[in-house]
Amino acid sequence: MDRVQLENRVAELNKLLHEYGHAYYVLDQPIVPDAIYDQLLHELIAIEEENPDLIFPDSPTRRVGGEILTGFNKVTHQYPMLSLGNAFNEEDLNDFDRRVRQVVGDQVTYVCELKIDGLAISLRYEDGLFVQGATRGNGTVGEDITENLKTVHSIPLRLKEPVSIEARGECYMPKRSFTNLNKMRAEKGDELFANPRNAAAGSLRQLDPKVAASRNLSTFIYAMGGNGEAYGLESHSEALDYMDHLGFQTNHERRKFTNMREVMAYIEEWTEQRPTLPYEIDGIVIKVDSYNQQEELGNTVKVPRWSIAYKFPAEEVVTTVLDIDLTV
Ligand code: NAD
Repeated sequence: MDRVQLENRVAELNKLLHEYGHAYYVLDQPIVPDAIYDQLLHELIAIEEENPDLIFPDSPTRRVGGEILTGFNKVTHQYPMLSLGNAFNEEDLNDFDRRVRQVVGDQVTYVCELKIDGLAISLRYEDGLFVQGATRGNGTVGEDITENLKTVHSIPLRLKEPVSIEARGECYMPKRSFTNLNKMRAEKGDELFANPRNAAAGSLRQLDPKVAASRNLSTFIYAMGGNGEAYGLESHSEALDYMDHLGFQTNHERRKFTNMREVMAYIEEWTEQRPTLPYEIDGIVIKVDSYNQQEELGNTVKVPRWSIAYKFPAEEVVTTVLDIDLTV
């Protein structure tokens, strides 16, 4: 590609990714499969890495998530809610492992978790009481969806200890609830949701909490906002155990490994097991366990350097809609 062609391609990729991002994040109605979005984003990242002068200030590679919806109060996150870097194959994972070991040395423990395909949420507790729930929004400012989140049964309204804490996790719609919801919508002639992720996002961003209450949503908490050292914790896995103890629902398929061979085996296992789960996952998240090592590695503006999301190859969107058995 010559320079002019490259500039045109960058402009085209920015335009397409903004359009697709708006449909996905704001309207909750994606117009292309995630794999297409990810492929275009990857192409843009690769061009920008080689040509930093072609980075648009509002490039989708610089931002987390979408715009903030009107109708909800805004919440400024105490700690930014970042996205995750992506890996699509073993080579990407080995590169990640190399980068990590270059900084922290050879003694690394990774926590592998299922990547739940829902909507990121932040839950704030004061003296053990649930006081505010928010979406990720643009990573810095989210939407206040406290009333909707209070309708989700797996979110404790009071913790088992009177601590002030922020929990972060994924709110999702189980597969069965999604199928039933779309079946009911089809009967009423309403537009169908493309997948459980968009159905969960659409449900949480309703102004009437009765709608969210009727949608059978659930949650998995996967992190603590800020550093768990204030609670005497030294690692991410300890934080998850503590969150469990406080009464949150965490995902118990998480495992700890010390090398990429074991991480790959876990990924292969879940690539096979994925259809048997009652909720959608779109990959595996790999996190450096030690808080000290996480701090050494730090973050970029958009993603932590101590974590990466392995994304499963495409399935979904259109097939999910077409697979609904309307006779059930
Ligand atoms: P991401 O989905 O790649 O990863 C970050 C998110 O993973 C976090 O915000 C968190 O909510 C979630 N997550 C789930 N389980 C987790 C766990 N155990 N630990 C930590 N995080 C966990 O990044 P993103 O910035 O949310 O958005 C990109 C996603 O949205 C991609 O999957 C992309 O394909 C999709 N997208 C699709 C379209 C489209 O048009 N189809 C448009 C925009 C974005």
